[in-house]
Amino acid sequence: MIPVSCGEIADAVDGELVGVGPSAVVDGAVVIDSRAAVPGGLFVALPGERVDGHDYVGTATEAGVTVSLTTRPVGGSPCIVVGDSQNALGDLARLVVGRLPGLTVIGLTGSSGKTSTKDLIAQLIRPYGETVSPEGSFNNEIGHPLTALQATETTKYLVAEMGARHLGDLTYLCGITPPAVGLVLNVGTSHIGEFGSQDNIALAKGELVEALVPGGTAVLNADDPRVAAMASRTGERVLTFGEAEAADVRATDIKLDPEGRPGFTLRIGEFSRAVQLRFVGEHYVSNALGAAAVAAAVGLTPEQIAEGLAGATAVSAARMEVTERADGVTVINDAFNANPDSVRAALKALVAIGRARGARTWAVLGEMLELGDTSAEEHDAIGRLVVRLDVNRLVVVGEGAKPIHLGASLEGSWGNESAYVRTIPEALDLLRAELRAGDVVLVKSSKAAKLRSLADALLEDA
Ligand code: ATP
Ligand code: MG
Repeated sequence: MIPVSCGEIADAVDGELVGVGPSAVVDGAVVIDSRAAVPGGLFVALPGERVDGHDYVGTATEAGVTVSLTTRPVGGSPCIVVGDSQNALGDLARLVVGRLPGLTVIGLTGSSGKTSTKDLIAQLIRPYGETVSPEGSFNNEIGHPLTALQATETTKYLVAEMGARHLGDLTYLCGITPPAVGLVLNVGTSHIGEFGSQDNIALAKGELVEALVPGGTAVLNADDPRVAAMASRTGERVLTFGEAEAADVRATDIKLDPEGRPGFTLRIGEFSRAVQLRFVGEHYVSNALGAAAVAAAVGLTPEQIAEGLAGATAVSAARMEVTERADGVTVINDAFNANPDSVRAALKALVAIGRARGARTWAVLGEMLELGDTSAEEHDAIGRLVVRLDVNRLVVVGEGAKPIHLGASLEGSWGNESAYVRTIPEALDLLRAELRAGDVVLVKSSKAAKLRSLADALLEDA
């Protein structure tokens, strides 16, 4: 963290100094895990579900932190005592970001594709300025300020993935790091259980464009009506992306190569150039266009953008990772997470790859969580889609995913090709017995349904 005195921190977080003077300086990393504590740093004691961070303040002090943020005095450790340490973490990040006038904050949200697009944006802009961007999905009230606190005077861009589970979440995150660019990818149905309706999800995600700094840019998906409509929620510049003819950053002539990787003509104003992506699945066109529009918003030229997109690669694991085993079975590991939109996108990619190769296709699907009342219906619809797309074999894993199997079985006689198993080991037995050279297998479920372990096991085979 940039150097800040304990007195200044106490003011910003409305805390009380205990066992430390106001002139002591924090200039090391801010951490929430005492094992990562460093000399000169700051430890935030968060009340966890299983462990209480306050039990580790002593360890952090021994590791040499200048001070800890706590909700009560802790032994002989230097503390700044606050009412709520999570809020204080946000206040601290706000203080630090406020001291970095050269920093451009890029915020992005959406139901699907945030992490993939965040990584893509970082790859596009990093050559043009020092960039801080979280690893993985550090996108909530804790991960977001921790990421922001890594910015220093030399940082030019902060690329922040912002997740919303409730109304007000994005307003809170944007209050910590006021965004100069706000990208909204899509409004799907993830977390619909919490929100009640897609319109409510749109309401929550649109908070990002309402929070733009003066002179900022909203980057909106022209192909998603709920996102496009967010233009009316900001007085700042709007840049749009998509396949729609009116979009500022467009793709035309989209084609998947035999590996399922999309190529398209990138069009920005008068500029047009063929771009071949290295990501698998047509849905990455939308992510790439969103990233391209963000890059345009911060001043990259169309040439730089086209070049960057062509060179960009996947950073995060288990998102449409395609691996061909030595025995000729190809595994598409997309088991990082799942919601109805991302399952549909993955199934389409599976079919495209299967068709290009003349291969037998398998969908191995587990439960999609957090769908609330619509869960059974959404799973059923996925089962029917599997049939309509003519995927050759379906393996449905786990009680919660069973309606996928039922939906597929009801959609015509094809149902014979669908199998339902309760556990991952049973699924593995079935697959090991039946997979043969040339087959292409998609593995996908929500994180908590853990099909990632099944994908890993399949990749260890052969
Ligand atoms: P989370 O909310 O879990 O952090 P996320 O929004 O960060 O998710 P990613 O991790 O990038 O999203 O991708 C999650 C899944 O969604 C992957 O299976 C990926 O293939 C799929 N996906 C990525 N982009 C899109 C898109 N534009 N439309 C539909 N699905 C997508
Ligand atoms: Mg994510």
